This record gives sequence, C-alpha cells and structure tokens, in this order.
Amino acid sequence: MDVIILQRDLRLMDNPALFYGSKKGNYCVIYVYDKNYWQSYGRSSRQLKFAVDCMKELNENLKKLDSKILIFKGSFEKLGVLLKKEFPCSKIHLNHCTDNLYHRKEIKKFLSKFENNTLNIYDNFGLQLHKFNRDNWSRDWNAIMSKPILGSPSNSTFNKELPLLSFEDFEQNLNIENSALRGIQKGGEKLASDLLDSFFEYRADGYSKKMSCPKEAETACSRLSPHIAFGSISIRKIYQELNNVLFLSPYKRDLYSFKKRLHWHCHFVQKLETEPELEFRSMHPFCDELRTEEDSELIERWIKGQTGFPFLDACISYLNSNGWINFRMRAMIMSFASYNLWQPWQKTSPLLAELFTDFEPGIHISQVQMQSGVTGINLPRIYSVFKQSLDQDPTAEWTKKIIPQLKNVETDLIHNAELRDLYFEQIVDPKLSAKKARDTIWAMRKNKDFKKIAREVYLKHGSRKKQQFNRAFN
Ligand SMILES: Cc1cc2nc3c(=O)[nH]c(=O)nc-3n(C[C@H](O)[C@H](O)[C@H](O)COP(=O)(O)OP(=O)(O)OC[C@H]3O[C@@H](n4cnc5c(N)ncnc54)[C@H](O)[C@@H]3O)c2cc1C
Repeated sequence: MDVIILQRDLRLMDNPALFYGSKKGNYCVIYVYDKNYWQSYGRSSRQLKFAVDCMKELNENLKKLDSKILIFKGSFEKLGVLLKKEFPCSKIHLNHCTDNLYHRKEIKKFLSKFENNTLNIYDNFGLQLHKFNRDNWSRDWNAIMSKPILGSPSNSTFNKELPLLSFEDFEQNLNIENSALRGIQKGGEKLASDLLDSFFEYRADGYSKKMSCPKEAETACSRLSPHIAFGSISIRKIYQELNNVLFLSPYKRDLYSFKKRLHWHCHFVQKLETEPELEFRSMHPFCDELRTEEDSELIERWIKGQTGFPFLDACISYLNSNGWINFRMRAMIMSFASYNLWQPWQKTSPLLAELFTDFEPGIHISQVQMQSGVTGINLPRIYSVFKQSLDQDPTAEWTKKIIPQLKNVETDLIHNAELRDLYFEQIVDPKLSAKKARDTIWAMRKNKDFKKIAREVYLKHGSRKKQQFNRAFN
C-alpha cells in the first residue's frame, strides 16, 4: 500500500505526492501534528490556523474520493515507528519541504527508518534538490514550472483502522479559534483560486507602484503568500495561469513584475535549502562579529510597536493584527531593528516570523539577512522611518486609523515623531544610529578579506544577473 504524508502542501490539485501516491488506489493520507514543531523557530498559532483551514477543505475534497486526512499526533520519528509496525512493506510519498532546523532533524530521523527504494520524494517548488548549480538554476526552474499540472488524485479503496485521529476530532480538540486571529487570512484552495482570479482580472492594476504603500498594497498585491507557503496553490499553477493571461492583460507591466517575484520565491528558498546553517549564521561569516549583544528591552518595544515612531509602530501593529504587511514595510521594520537598534538578527528574526501568516523560512531568513546588511553581496540599505512615513502615508490618515490616540495631532508632528507626552518616547536617535551603522558596515566591507569571501558567497547564492554582481563588487 501507499502512505502519503502531507506537510506544507495542503492542496488536492497539482500535488505530486497525492497524485502519484494514490495511483494504485490502496492509500492513506496522514498529517503529522507535532506540538513542538509549532513552537519551533518562527512558527505560531496564526500559521497553524491557516494550515487547519487548508486541511479542512482538502479533507472534504478527499472524502469525495473515499479518502480523508488522518492525523498523527506526535513527532515524525514516532510516526516512522508506527508505519514500520503497521505497514512494513508500504511505499511512502511526500513532497519536499524546506523548513527550520527542528523540521529538518525530524524529517531526517523519519526518512532514516525506511529503505531508499520505498521512499518517493517529489518537488514542491522550483528548487534544485539534487544537483545544485547556480548557473543552471533559472533554466531548471523554468523546466519545473512548465511541466503539466497534475490533476485530482485517484479514489481510495483503503479501509484499515489505524490508531490515528480523524481531522474532525483533531480540529475540535485544537481549539485555536480566538478573537486575536480574526484579521488573519483564511486558508484553502478555493480562496487561493479566487485571489488569483481577482488579481489577474482587476487588482493587479497599478500593482508595481501600489505595492510600496501599505494601504494600497493590501488589495493591489496578490496576497497569495500564505497560500504558497502552506501549499493551497502550487507556484506552477500560478505561473501557468499567469502565462495564459499575460498576453491579453491590460496590466502587462504589473504582471511582469509579479512574474519576477515568483522566481524570487524559489531563488530565496533555494538559499536555505543549499545552506541550512543560514538559519543561525550570517551569509558572510565576518558579519556575525558586528552585533554581538542583545538588548531584550529594546527588542520587546520594537516587536510590540512601541518605538515612538508612529508610522513604524502602525506598520508593526497592522502586521500583528493582519498577519501580513507589504514588502517595503517588512524591510523597514527589519532595517530598524538591525541598523538603528543594532540588535542581532538571529534574535529578532524568529519574533518577526511568528507574526507572518506566510512565514516561509527560506525567504524570511534571506530577506532578514539582506535587510541587516550581513549577506556581503547586497548593498546595505537603511530605511529612514521619517521618509517612509512621508512617502507612504503623506496625510498620516492610515497611521491615525491604527493609532487612534494620534487622531487630532498635526500631520507634520506625526511624520517627525515629535509627540512629547502624547506618545511613546523615541527609543533611539534614528539619524545618529543610522550614521553609526552605515560607517561600521562600510568599514567592514572595505576589508580585502571581506571582499574575497563575498565573492565566494556570490558564486554560491547570487543571482546571475549582471547588475547584482556589479553592484556588489564594483
Ligand atoms: C524581512 C522580510 C521578511 C519576509 N518574509 C517573508 C516570508 O516569510 N514569506 C514570504 O512569502 N515572503 C516574505 N517576504 C517577502 C515579501 O514581503 C512577501 O512575499 C510579500 O509581501 C507577500 O505578499 P503577496 O503574496 O501579496 O506578494 P506579491 O507581491 O503578490 O508577490 C507574489 C509572490 O511572490 C513571492 N515574493 C514576493 N516578493 C518576494 C520577495 N521579495 N522575495 C521572495 N519572494 C517574493 C511571494 O511568494 C509572493 O506571494 C519577506 C520580506 C522581508 C523584507
């Protein structure tokens, strides 16, 4: 018989493990609920809630095929023991998943229990899983994205009783529905497909400009990120549907911009896949000497959105309530923690990740490192909280909506964070701290040995676009 293991690939369609694993009909589908995983690096209840939404819909769809999701409560290692006992001759099917250290260790223990010829591990995203070669990466990505979309799995004939929970019992016992998660996006294939359609039909109008402003980005961005992270839609499906509409779309420029980002998704996940140590150490090893001490009080005020800079605090509060914010604001939030507050990214990164419903370790960790100036191959960019406030929310209406206590305050005072006893005190001098950070980072980058290692980092991880090489080394 065949055992299909679900991870962050919670969809019926274009799901290789489900499609190939179900072919012979005698199959079961198992999801591992490991409490410790949901408490590991960057994981949080908002992401679990999204995953449960996706599973609920998938379970209903599987029922139509006389199948269902069975829940194993415990670690992957323990599931391995159970499967060896119950189905010693079964074949195991799962899609590859690039995740944090906890998950990597658990999966390794699980896989070690089975003979290689009983394991079937499939691509999920467009990654090079075996022969990593940066020079061929784009070609391989295009080849994976152009493969035909896989259809529905086959009907099941499996009828053995197993010591596993039904999805319904699992969901009932989990009890994660709470008011704090009300603003968080909902999961499932239907919603992912609706978002894709509305994005192509009208929301993409002005996407490439509107994506920088948190208010406009809320609807002008695709909002597919949690669906991609938990697999309620495949990147391949998005890519192929995009190619179908691109030619006739009135929003061609916007959609080309979107297309680039689908590449970026896998380009960033590949970095962590190739070098999992990036979860804990900087891409350029010299940079780990930059910020050696943490100040837990500063970090706490930052992640709670109590920095004394209204626009920045509004962005963090918005993210906290909605589980999402646009790229530019994520970059500013991170840049503030790393440059202005000079806190080690290793301490701040998981706290930020917990707030994202779309937490994707490969993208998150690479982006955190870029916005902290520790890759050695990207030019450091320090975002000014004053400039972003003026550029992205000139009337301060958006900020006032999120921080109502400022509703009667003059716009200029909000942009300049001159609020005296009306608001939190500024936790740092933004101009002085930015200057100090800039001088320190550039002094390090001038070092000859730094440049030598940066070149090696580039060869391993850098985009093969000429501009990036020139920007980094000339
Ligand atoms: C510090 C920091 C942390 C981040 N952490 C995550 C994360 O954990 N998960 C995540 O999905 N994105 C992350 N991003 C990238 C980006 O902000 C989000 O992908 C984007 O805001 C998601 O919204 P969307 O789906 O509407 O994006 P759209 O603009 O509609 O883009 C479509 C898809 O392209 C991909 N994409 C878009 N921008 C990027 C990018 N810069 N790098 C890589 N892929 C991209 C995503 O899969 C996204 O869903 C991070 C960015 C920063 C600066």
